[in-house]
Amino acid sequence: MKAIVNYEAGPGRVEVREVPVPELGPKDVLIRVQAAGVCGSDLHMYHDSQGFPVKRPVTLGHEYAGVVEKVGSLVTAFKAGDRVVSETPAYICETCIYCRTGQYNLCPTRRGFGVLEDGAMAQFVKTREAIVHHVPDGIPFEMAALTEPACVAYNAVSHHSRIRPGDYVVVFGPGPIGLMCVQIAKLFSPGRLTVVGTARDKKRLEVALQFGADEVIEAEGRDVVSELLSYGDGFGPDLILDAVGVSATLKQSIDAVRPNGQITKIGWGPAPVGFSLDPLIQKAARLQGSFSHNYPMWEKVLLMMAKGEINPLPMAKCYGIDDWKAAFDEMDSLQHAKSIILPQQS
Ligand SMILES: [Zn+2]
Ligand SMILES: [Zn+2]
Repeated sequence: MKAIVNYEAGPGRVEVREVPVPELGPKDVLIRVQAAGVCGSDLHMYHDSQGFPVKRPVTLGHEYAGVVEKVGSLVTAFKAGDRVVSETPAYICETCIYCRTGQYNLCPTRRGFGVLEDGAMAQFVKTREAIVHHVPDGIPFEMAALTEPACVAYNAVSHHSRIRPGDYVVVFGPGPIGLMCVQIAKLFSPGRLTVVGTARDKKRLEVALQFGADEVIEAEGRDVVSELLSYGDGFGPDLILDAVGVSATLKQSIDAVRPNGQITKIGWGPAPVGFSLDPLIQKAARLQGSFSHNYPMWEKVLLMMAKGEINPLPMAKCYGIDDWKAAFDEMDSLQHAKSIILPQQS
């Protein structure tokens, strides 16, 4: 079968290769992949700029949906022909306290698809029955493949953060996760929803407006913090969702957040922050991380997609598997927020 493989360390070491169809264990499910989203982490591996351990060669991709081709001997919940989507942890230990309590996204030995296990930018992928979900009728595969980034946002906005209707909410970074944060924050009827990006983000900021942002700010040459503080009573946002990750946006978040407000950090940034966190103490504000997602979040996001309350497709563009380079490069140059590979098309 065809697969998009990151074959060795170094920039640009990705190509389409012929690889064997995976063998199934008794509790595994083989999916004929119909759509696989390109994630920022796939682009980092493409450039060899990722800040996490990887196995190479590895088939990329962890955001995917398709049709069940075959199931292992002990699988009961799925059969050939089912339309499905799968979560991202290819392996978890199943014995640590996080696995035992359904918080397996926090399992210290978790191995993700497309990073430490072969992923879904291929004609077939092997996954575990425990993390497969039925895709409700009416959700196309391209949309189902984006359940994953929607769940990242869902976890950050509705699990780790608290929004009350009327709250002032700010999203830093109009990438796929930031844009999905906009859609999910909208479900809580915020009083004002502002998205901050840069001049390079023009197209993605337009999508933010389409997704319901009240206002977008291109940060260049502007005093973002005083603009954020100029709305309403002047005390700043109740909630800031940081989907960028560099220390500059964390500094702006801390300077702008409302006393007793919250900052939820989703974006990664390996560099030390380099400034004092004292304002966080003085404001009694809460800074928290959010990572990945788990089973019930997927079920809820799929229900909301089926109802049309979440729809990531306007931020995406589709490509056949042989056009993977255009898919990676065009997303990388911010022509659109999300590329989707269709592995059954050349
Ligand atoms: Zn991803
Ligand atoms: Zn575990």
